[in-house]
Amino acid sequence: MDYSLNEVQNSIKNNFASFCTKEIAPRAPLLDAASHEQVQTMIKENIKKLADIGYLGLAHEEKYGGTNLDLLSQAIAGEEVAKACASTFLSAGASNGLFGMPLKMFGTQEQKEKYLPGIIKGDIIGAFGLTEPEAGSDAAAIKTTAVKKGNEWILNGSKTFITNAPIADVCLIMAYNDREAGPGAGVTGFLVEKGAPGFVVGKPFDKLGFRGSPTAEIFLEDCRVPESAVLGQVGAGFIQAMQTLEYGRIGMATVCLGIAVACMEAANAYSKERKTFGKPINRYQEISFKIADMMIMTDVSRLLIYRAALAKEAKDPESAVLASCAKLFASESATKISSMALQVHGGYGYIKEFPVERLYRDAKLGEIGEGASEIQRILIAKSILSKIH
Ligand SMILES: Cc1cc2nc3c(=O)[nH]c(=O)nc-3n(C[C@H](O)[C@H](O)[C@H](O)COP(=O)(O)OP(=O)(O)OC[C@H]3O[C@@H](n4cnc5c(N)ncnc54)[C@H](O)[C@@H]3O)c2cc1C
Repeated sequence: MDYSLNEVQNSIKNNFASFCTKEIAPRAPLLDAASHEQVQTMIKENIKKLADIGYLGLAHEEKYGGTNLDLLSQAIAGEEVAKACASTFLSAGASNGLFGMPLKMFGTQEQKEKYLPGIIKGDIIGAFGLTEPEAGSDAAAIKTTAVKKGNEWILNGSKTFITNAPIADVCLIMAYNDREAGPGAGVTGFLVEKGAPGFVVGKPFDKLGFRGSPTAEIFLEDCRVPESAVLGQVGAGFIQAMQTLEYGRIGMATVCLGIAVACMEAANAYSKERKTFGKPINRYQEISFKIADMMIMTDVSRLLIYRAALAKEAKDPESAVLASCAKLFASESATKISSMALQVHGGYGYIKEFPVERLYRDAKLGEIGEGASEIQRILIAKSILSKIH
């Protein structure tokens, strides 16, 4: 099997790496330390920068301004963005991926024309609203309702932990239009714009990590949206959300890989410079073995991501479980790698002057968002058990 990247993939990697090293990475510590107000301005600037080099259009069709590249190419570019700034990856991904992908897959021509060119240019920011205060892992337990009145839908309920909520121009909101249809079956997706009556965004959350990516609650108080806001078919929302999360899981695995690579490089560089007892610490087996473990875990994460991306592209029926495998392994590896990298830095790893302090805080989200590790293990185990006769 040929594991090498082809010429186009190599040039994607190199172009994004050099752009992100220059334009995105230097802003990562500033974004992390910024106030909520500053974050909102700075993250929009970063999203715009990525739009200008075509990152937000990689997954989207040419007629809307994209380049329609395959998922593997998107993962290759994404690793470079994530390595430079995980918060920027997350907010860009919530807009062009969590919002943009269901629009691409299920939206009407009119809806795509209305939002996709702006999303790809970074002029419109999107968000994805599934999680609720009492429904995260158990997404079918959402309580938000949608009732049809005349030619409008009236939404009531609340969403929480919504990436980009404070800066979003439009949010995909999942709501039950028919509770009798059974868990998940009567859910519909609505494209709700910022100015819609009854659409209220809460204060940004103060988070452990990903501090440069704003997250907040959304309240829907008799929120009125036109019929044209329905994404695809009425009642198809749950399936739309699950299909979106398959892409989201590859995305979450990719951001974890970027964090892990940044940690490994920082630990490697530091261990060459730092001397104790008269020699660089990388001469000690305890340190060099940590670097070796980091390398193996990042490599395996990358291979699992590439496999999941290729499977999804090939419409392989196993693609969902392969996305879960990639997400589970890459996220748990990133947590371990960031901890090892911090350890290699000793006391300096614990202070903000060194990037591993931020990377360590960022890494943890991977084990929670887009379906926590426990849920991924349940999905993977179910898939394996279903095949054992
Ligand atoms: C920074 C951030 C950004 C986010 N962005 C978005 C977004 O843009 N849009 C969106 O819709 N959501 C978003 N989320 C929500 C995220 O997807 C949920 O937090 C996640 O799915 C977990 O749900 P929960 O927090 O309600 O935890 P819970 O579902 O309450 O789970 C709590 C714990 O119990 C475990 N658990 C639950 N059920 C089981 C079970 N059956 N067996 C074993 N263990 C179980 C979980 O794995 C977890 O460890 C975001 C979250 C964060 C923190």
